[in-house]
Amino acid sequence: MSALFPTYARWGIHPVKGQGAELVDASGTTYLDFVAGIAVCNLGHCHPKVNQALKDQVDKLWHVSNLFEIEQQEKVAKCLTDNSVADYAFFCNSGAEANEAAIKLARKATGKHKIVSFQKSFHGRTLGSMSATGQEKVHEGYGPLLPEFTYLPFNDEEALTKTMSEDVAAIMVEVIQGEGGVVPMTPSFARHIRSICDKYNCLLIIDEVQTGIGRTGTLFAYEQYDLVPDIITLAKGLGNGFPVGALLGQESLVDYFQPGSHGSTFGGNPLAMAAVNAVLEEVTNDSFLQSIKEKGEWLIKQLIELSNELDEIVEVRGIGLMIGIECKHEVGPMIASLREKHLLVLQAGPNVMRLLPPLIVKEEQLKQALQLISNVLKANATVVK
Ligand SMILES: *Cc1c(COP(=O)(O)O)cnc(C)c1O
Repeated sequence: MSALFPTYARWGIHPVKGQGAELVDASGTTYLDFVAGIAVCNLGHCHPKVNQALKDQVDKLWHVSNLFEIEQQEKVAKCLTDNSVADYAFFCNSGAEANEAAIKLARKATGKHKIVSFQKSFHGRTLGSMSATGQEKVHEGYGPLLPEFTYLPFNDEEALTKTMSEDVAAIMVEVIQGEGGVVPMTPSFARHIRSICDKYNCLLIIDEVQTGIGRTGTLFAYEQYDLVPDIITLAKGLGNGFPVGALLGQESLVDYFQPGSHGSTFGGNPLAMAAVNAVLEEVTNDSFLQSIKEKGEWLIKQLIELSNELDEIVEVRGIGLMIGIECKHEVGPMIASLREKHLLVLQAGPNVMRLLPPLIVKEEQLKQALQLISNVLKANATVVK
């Protein structure tokens, strides 16, 4: 009997160690891990430089609070702002907290309260970030949400035009809906969102919690669109597994986050920042980013070719190494069958298989995964074209 609240349906695998894209369980079985801690271990398990940075910091200093100067935190903030359109950073401990901070900052800076987000979005589990999440199953049973959230169909320009007004504080959006089925924003929707924000003086909050930190082949996914965010939220890949979140914001917002207005006891502590600095040193490298793009393009191309052969595949979507395979049937049984063959992948909605390999994944590991996925999909297909 487990003493844990059963908030997760567990797979019955007990990992005891990991290296790169591989996980080893208690019985010694090795798995190819295309879950990466749910888009967290972007540099793979036990990356030597991240491990070393943490080990070095463990013996120096763990935590002092934000009443003190923290050199590592300044360094992370400088790197993130130098490499984005933002000018300031605030550190917290998770994606939900980063989005919570974004909602607060948007309300305070605009003096307005209405937030527009999208159906099938996912922004987190706290009351505020859950209220921004456009999924009924996430809200169920928790009573009244925060007021003044509106969920529009994603990529629907007309719906956005109709709904917008002067009283909207912010639009909160993912560049690729992750939990909602790996659905990329269309380029024209991106342009539309930005122009609407300018027209109505509302802030654009881009939730890069899953798409950020190299996942799509650029440090942030918004860089691949005509999309200038006012606020960016980050977590997942930022610490490669060390819990950390961040909000990045433009210069115009700095007056609204002054002493006493927002905070986090743990946020940005030296241990977390040591991990993040090591992660950023790797992920801001242009040739590394290029390799992610190439691997992603290769895998997507192979999967599209497979979809031409198999009627089981409805659509292949994604950018970089954030890839969704929409299937005709419910994918749960296929994912379970892949687990039996020692490949770990995720589900995103009933019919979408989601691949999130660590960004350091090797070519032969991609080939191996493709072969396994192809076999399982073929076994499930009613028609092989
Ligand atoms: C995972 C996720 C979150 C929530 O992050 P937590 O660290 O679990 O709070 C928010 N937004 C997106 C897009 C996510 O994928």
